Amino acid sequence: MRVGMGYDVHRLIKGRRLILAGVEIPHELGLLGHSDADVAVHAIMDALLGAAALGDIGKHFPDTDEKYSGISSLKLLEYVRGLLEQEHYLIENIDATIVAQKPKLRPYINEMEQKVAQTLRLSKDQVNIKATTEEGLGFTGTEQGIAAYAVCSLSSMYEGSFTAAVSEEGGCAGCVGCPAHQKK
Ligand code: MG
Repeated sequence: MRVGMGYDVHRLIKGRRLILAGVEIPHELGLLGHSDADVAVHAIMDALLGAAALGDIGKHFPDTDEKYSGISSLKLLEYVRGLLEQEHYLIENIDATIVAQKPKLRPYINEMEQKVAQTLRLSKDQVNIKATTEEGLGFTGTEQGIAAYAVCSLSSMYEGSFTAAVSEEGGCAGCVGCPAHQKK
């Protein structure tokens, strides 16, 4: 099992949309960034890339590249899913916390979890998103920005537990082939 963590911050300004974990939230302020500035998805991607030792989002999606201008971060998340798949990692679970003074995020949490789970082809119980405030303190408390933290765990198809599970079920007989087998 491998774990990863991610952290991100974006500045709140007028005239931008507020998109958190793929959900557009009505608010007088939005997040500034090269992409859609979805701080929650950015933290989740960094957690996933970190767990797989694949670097960070700055490496994969440089903000100097015009092709990422205004892009939905869910598209980037889909790309990260592909990278993990290439390396034969399975996502076990994701847990994220969004730190925002306003607006109240509770009504949107369910949809956020669904968006992230769908994009990563996970079941909803593998994705948890939480929201908190910092009680008016610091840059989130004064609404200068929103922060997000994420952790995740991955398992590798090459791990012992996976092989044991396969052999207990009767080995590879009848199997169409898995990446673990192909590698050998
Ligand atoms: Mg970011």
